[in-house]
Order: sequence, then structure tokens, then C-alpha cells
Amino acid sequence: MYDVIIVGASVTGCRTAELICRKGYKVLVLEEHREVGKPKKCAGLVSWRLLNLLPKLPKEIIINKVNRAKFFSPSGKFFELRSKKSVYVIDRVKLDKYLAKKAMESGAKIKTSTRFENFKHIDEMIEVKTNKGEFKTKLLIGADGVNSKVAKQANIVQPNNLLMGIQATVNANFDPDSVELWFSSIAPEFFSWVIPENENKARVGLATKTNCEYYFEKFLKKKNRKNQKTKCWWANKIWFNEKYGF
Ligand SMILES: Cc1cc2nc3c(=O)[nH]c(=O)nc-3n(C[C@H](O)[C@H](O)[C@H](O)COP(=O)(O)OP(=O)(O)OC[C@H]3O[C@@H](n4cnc5c(N)ncnc54)[C@H](O)[C@@H]3O)c2cc1C
Repeated sequence: MYDVIIVGASVTGCRTAELICRKGYKVLVLEEHREVGKPKKCAGLVSWRLLNLLPKLPKEIIINKVNRAKFFSPSGKFFELRSKKSVYVIDRVKLDKYLAKKAMESGAKIKTSTRFENFKHIDEMIEVKTNKGEFKTKLLIGADGVNSKVAKQANIVQPNNLLMGIQATVNANFDPDSVELWFSSIAPEFFSWVIPENENKARVGLATKTNCEYYFEKFLKKKNRKNQKTKCWWANKIWFNEKYGF
């Protein structure tokens, strides 16, 4: 019997597990994927406040520091803002793994390849059903992301303004100190981004309500100048596509 079961071993789940364990409670974290952090699910641009929260963050998790942002209209006109403090381009997979390690060091148990299916109340406890059997707990926390099954089953109202995201890693020439944000018809309802990892590589993506692949191809074509090999990822797929490149 656990004090707390947390569904989802990503940033929310692992950090919550660590904090609860530090108070002396017995915590189990359930993760449906085989490996914490994968598939990658984030563009990885975060505030300088990350280091306030995690002062001992290993240096290799921060891939780049950016001080400027350019805000573009579809015509290519832009204005630029400078930040007094750098924002960080991080390796999100490594951040998830780091937080999982800290949770385990605090005493949390993390079970991967274990998918939450449902829960039911039995007297004063909760029985959690997974593809790997049942577990008992006093408290259940859903840290299972935007499509939270825990929230659905607990009848917690789901947001109705969800967007779809798509992103590629593009090899070309970039300003390593500046992110680009493209608005309006480039990505209706949201924006497109270019986040440099260094001067030769950037994360290029966008989010929209529908047809995000269509807008993404259009955005890449708009910026396409020469043909270079590009590694792409979208949701949990990875593919190589020769035709993308700036
Ligand atoms: C395209 C895109 C770009 C983004 N870019 C940024 C950015 O630049 N900066 C930023 O700060 N944020 C960004 N975000 C947002 C960021 O990714 C999320 O805010 C963050 O990942 C939320 O973390 P979480 O731990 O709450 O949930 P998630 O990271 O979604 O993790 C949920 C975890 O629960 C697991 N899980 C789900 N269902 C089950 C189940 N039934 N059983 C067991 N495990 C389950 C999943 O496998 C996953 O590990 C981006 C998001 C997207 C989609």
C-alpha cells in the first residue's frame, strides 16, 4: 500500500514525487513508456527561473542561452525584444531523466512500461488498475499530461482549447542568440518558432488547432533557401526528410 501514486513520470510527476518523498511518504510513479523522457514532447525553451528551482541542474541539460526574441508578421517584418536575463534552450529528455533520478534518490519508486487504466475507491483507499496489475494507495495524482486519463475518470473538466504541435530539428545557419516567433496566418491560433541550439542547428515548429502539418510544410517552404538533410519529429514519430531545410 502506497501513500501516493502518481501517474506520469515527466516533469510534473517526478518533481511532485520528489517533494512528497522528502516529507517521508511512500510514493509510486507509474509511467506508460519504457524510458522516462521519451518520446520528446517539448520545444525546450524555458525561463531563467529554472535554475532558481533547480540550482544544481547539470550543465549539459542547458544547450544554449538566448537573450533576444524577434516577433514576425507573415510579411517578414519584425520587431525585437532583448531580455536582461538569458532564457535557456534545454535538453528536455535529460531534464525528465534528471528529475526522475532525484525522485528515486528521495525514495520514490518509478515503474516504467506501466500504463494507468482506471481507479476505484475501496473503503478509505484507492485501487489503481494498470496493464501490470493493481496497486493500492491513499492518494492518487494525475500528472499524465494534456490527455489525462486520471482527470477524465475523476470527472475533472478537460480544457476545450487544445492545440496540436509539430517540430523539426533543422540544420542550417541561425543566430544562436535569438529566437524567432512568427504570428497570424503562419500558424493561426498560436505561432511558429525557431529556437537555435547553436549557429548550425535549430528547433523549428508550430502549433495550431487543426492542419498543423499543412501549416508547418508551408512555413518551412517559406523559409526554404537550400536543400539540407533535416531530422524531424512530430508527436512520437521521428523521420528524416530531405526536402526540408533553410
Ligand atoms: C510542441 C510542444 C512544444 C512545447 N514547448 C515548450 C517550451 O518550449 N517550453 C515549455 O516550458 N513548455 C513547452 N511545452 C509544454 C510542455 O511540454 C508541457 O507543459 C510539459 O511537458 C507538461 O509536463 P507534465 O509533466 O505535466 O506532462 P507531460 O510532459 O505531458 O508528461 C505526462 C507523462 O505522463 C505519461 N502518461 C500519460 N498517460 C499515462 C498513463 N495512462 N499511464 C502512465 N503514464 C502516462 C506520459 O508518458 C508522460 O511521461 C511544449 C509542448 C508541446 C506539445
